[in-house]
Amino acid sequence: MGIDYIVPEFEVDRNEQRCIHCRVCECQCANEVHSYSKEAGIMLSDETRCVNCQRCVSLCPTRALKIVKNPCSFRENANWQPDLIKEVYRQASTGGVLLSSMGTPKPYPVYWDRILINASQVTNPSIDPLREPMETKVFLGKRPEKISRDPEGNLITKLPPQITLSMPVMFSAMSYGSISYNAHASLARAATKLGILYNTGEGGLHEDFYRYGPNTIVQVASGRFGVHEGYLEAGAAIEIKMGQGAKPGIGGHLPGAKIVGDVSRTRMIPEGTDAISPAPHHDIYSIEDLRQLVYSLKEATNYEKPVIVKVAAVHNIAAIASGIARSGADIIAIDGFRGGTGAAPTRIRDNVGIPIELALASVDRRLRDEGIRGNVSLVVGGSIRCASDVVKAIALGADACYIATAALLALGCHLCRTCHSGKCNWGIATQRPDLVKRLNPDIGSERLVNLMNAWRHEIMELMGGMGINSIEALKGNRLMLRGVGLSGKELEILGISHAGE
Ligand code: SF4
Ligand code: SF4
Repeated sequence: MGIDYIVPEFEVDRNEQRCIHCRVCECQCANEVHSYSKEAGIMLSDETRCVNCQRCVSLCPTRALKIVKNPCSFRENANWQPDLIKEVYRQASTGGVLLSSMGTPKPYPVYWDRILINASQVTNPSIDPLREPMETKVFLGKRPEKISRDPEGNLITKLPPQITLSMPVMFSAMSYGSISYNAHASLARAATKLGILYNTGEGGLHEDFYRYGPNTIVQVASGRFGVHEGYLEAGAAIEIKMGQGAKPGIGGHLPGAKIVGDVSRTRMIPEGTDAISPAPHHDIYSIEDLRQLVYSLKEATNYEKPVIVKVAAVHNIAAIASGIARSGADIIAIDGFRGGTGAAPTRIRDNVGIPIELALASVDRRLRDEGIRGNVSLVVGGSIRCASDVVKAIALGADACYIATAALLALGCHLCRTCHSGKCNWGIATQRPDLVKRLNPDIGSERLVNLMNAWRHEIMELMGGMGINSIEALKGNRLMLRGVGLSGKELEILGISHAGE
């Protein structure tokens, strides 16, 4: 063994006065950081393994533990930041591609934080959502150019299939395999209680979850794992995954170690084999090819389900979206580059793609300019963190938002960004039965319902403050937004004025 060039990132700070040697920390840490020395009668720590997931800190009964950033630092260097130096050491010892989880932690601009929302004063009265009606319901899907009614007022026009949501938020794709059975159960139950949808991701649909079908989006990705007729029919909508914000341009890889038991059965692949989704769909090389898949899926489900095409936000996203809107798809989902993932090559996650705010604004404008905005609904994800992000996204032109990281945080995720290790101490990104049990789906679904109810209320308050009483009236209403600290070009792309104008 050579020298370990990387000093531990975190230190375990154990207060010996408080520690009662109960060994709870030892049981709770799947990374085996803590151990008990009988000879010395003390708890020991192997800090090289700590990922700062805070599990032991949260469960220590005497609050004896703190995980602190190791103050040991490299000599200051504005060019060679510590992370870059450590990555070179890591690659020099392993020769491998660096893997990461969750969204990029790099300090790219978060445009949501540079956009401010309007409020009514004096002339245009605000609306009190506690006393006056407020509509947060949204319908996703194609809109007919005109509708006709018979003399009794009944609708004659046959409407294309639609999704109805009680609020403009859905749980984004997270596959069974990348997250646990109990995490999926929590999402499915919460979506059903809330009247919104959750998304299977590319891992198929476990047989226990078919009963949540009316609140499920079933995904068809390039690996086609777990895709069969019953699966397509089970969902309320079908999503073709062309790309993902955290790793545009590449496929997916779930290691064989995670393809066990139910995960292997649900994916319809043998236990222990790596689940590799190719970078492209091998039958799609053009919008015409995409159109064929869209219509194959519609044909297979009797034209009763809306088809979503999900793409990563990349440089020419407006032109790509224009093609998708003409492909027959009902909904386009755009995933920004700050979006989360169970596992992605670090270089891709941190350097490829564009922010969702700019992608959304340019797609909405392009589709309007081309007169095809009504062909599709737009759903955006890739770091929607709170209710005001949702409101800003709707005002920039989205019909609804996808959330994933925020939903996992509600389930207890502490953003340690080591989902790819399979040792999630919070029972979320793991298939180890002892860890999966740590997430109780009754509690998980209740926390998700609470989160969404809180957001719904905040969305109503923000809309009421603007004097707007429905999501429909907020949609694409960029006059309600102002930028702060943005360049002329950024404001032009976002299609908003600067604060003070
Ligand atoms: S990995 Fe998590 S549980 Fe283990 S020592 Fe670090 S913070 Fe505690
Ligand atoms: S899901 Fe688990 S492993 Fe992944 S970031 Fe959250 S706490 Fe860490």
